[in-house]
Amino acid sequence: MSAVNETLIRDVVAEVLGRIGGATTTTTRPAPTPTSSPAAKSDSCGCNAKRATSAPALRGKFGVFADANEACAAAQEAFVQLQRGGMAARRKIEEIVKALAEKNAEAWGKIELDETKIGRLDHKIAKLGLIKLVPGVDWLRPDARSGDHGITLEEYTPFGVVGAITPSTHSIPTLSGNIVNICAAGNAVVFNAHPSAARCAAVAVRAYNEAIYRETGIENIACIIEKPSLDSFNALCRHENTRLLLVTGGPMVVKAAMQTGKRAICAGPGNPPVLVDDTCCPTRAAKAIISGGAFDNNLLCIGEKQVFVLDNVADQLMQRLAENGAVKLTSAQLDNLTKAAFTFKEGQGGGCAHASVNKDYIGKDTSVLAKAAGVNIPADTQLLFAETDAQHPFVQEEQMMPMLPIVRVKSVEEGIALSLQSEHGYKHTAIIHSHDVENITAMARALDTTLFVKNGPSPAGLGLGGEGYLSFSIATPTGEGITNPRTFTRVRRCVMVDNLRIY
Ligand code: NAD
Repeated sequence: MSAVNETLIRDVVAEVLGRIGGATTTTTRPAPTPTSSPAAKSDSCGCNAKRATSAPALRGKFGVFADANEACAAAQEAFVQLQRGGMAARRKIEEIVKALAEKNAEAWGKIELDETKIGRLDHKIAKLGLIKLVPGVDWLRPDARSGDHGITLEEYTPFGVVGAITPSTHSIPTLSGNIVNICAAGNAVVFNAHPSAARCAAVAVRAYNEAIYRETGIENIACIIEKPSLDSFNALCRHENTRLLLVTGGPMVVKAAMQTGKRAICAGPGNPPVLVDDTCCPTRAAKAIISGGAFDNNLLCIGEKQVFVLDNVADQLMQRLAENGAVKLTSAQLDNLTKAAFTFKEGQGGGCAHASVNKDYIGKDTSVLAKAAGVNIPADTQLLFAETDAQHPFVQEEQMMPMLPIVRVKSVEEGIALSLQSEHGYKHTAIIHSHDVENITAMARALDTTLFVKNGPSPAGLGLGGEGYLSFSIATPTGEGITNPRTFTRVRRCVMVDNLRIY
């Protein structure tokens, strides 16, 4: 197709979408700086007339909508605009999101903590400063083949509008990283955030859209439903513009997304076990366990949640934990905390009572947990720990608190078996501290997790102190792994028969 024809078709599509919106009015806001995209330059006289064909309901919202259907319509329109803006507009969006996340890290970290009341301010700020490590436009490289029968190009192309569900545990970081990935791949996105972390999410979405509009003329590339609910979740999932879902959250939302009939990329729950054997460096292991398990008060899905340690090094490991900022609870203190941090529902049919996490303690500071345990701790305590048995609720539940249960095991085999059981088949994350390659290999094979970290803290698995790239959405049950721009693309093949192979 010639460049002219392609341009014509895009213009017609934009105009038809504008008419479906039902109006041809102009915006009263100042005209945006035109994008520097060659595509945009070639098809525009600079008067912005064609950009002003949308429904007024979709204008001036900067991505924040009361109604899911309006958000989906606005995102679809933005998707078409992004196609016109080409790679330059995608690159600009990536730059803006990364720069604003860093610039506003302190302010946005604070509003997220004020709203959710979970996690730690220093780590909320750190998470936003890390958005620059999320892969963007440069990640998408076409694959080419050349042979006797000509050449073939496979390109990673967008779907259109992606519906994304974000968690309460890291609302702005997840949506920011998702925008980088999803828009780098040429898509638009509509978010249904967690109701308890939706106000801060809307602040960030508005700021991103204002800046993106100023620079590219695209207003609603990332939309959000202001007051999310199960109804808005259903409307977003059902909307015909929503081509793909990205769900980051616990088991209920993963199940709900899979029942929608839309393709869903699911970043589901975890309960990461740590195995410590007698070949590792106990000091290094203790420091890594504290660093990963205490991060943002253990809200990360990849965070260390329970430790299995060989009996002959257990005392040494606990000594090193205590020397490096963690405090050990006695068994009486552990009992007090367990009663506060879990509720126990009667088992059915005479079975055991089932523990579920008391939300009041999720993501709380060590001082809050220590108070419930009945112990005074130094103000700078990073982590609590206590010896437990393998069936203790702190081992079995994804507790998301800075309190790690330590379980003694007699052998590596027993440690692997208990790690596997406590991970509950989520296939999310597991960690080992060992210098024995056979132990490492055995655990990696048995656990079969998406992330497997050796001799470091869990965030090393996301490029933070280990090699690799960052995403706050790790697609576990559906298998896409650590999400990146390619996750949100359709692979399309273009074949030239018998020609253009140049040697
Ligand atoms: P959550 O499951 O309570 O909520 C996550 C999102 O799903 C929210 O937007 C919520 O409103 C929505 N939701 C919940 N139940 C729903 C339902 N039945 N129908 C429709 N929407 C529903 O989780 P949370 O407490 O916000 O976050 C913590 C959980 O998310 C943990 O299990 C954690 O492991 C997981 N998580 C996973 C990843 C990952 O990358 N795999 C990242 C962050 C968090």
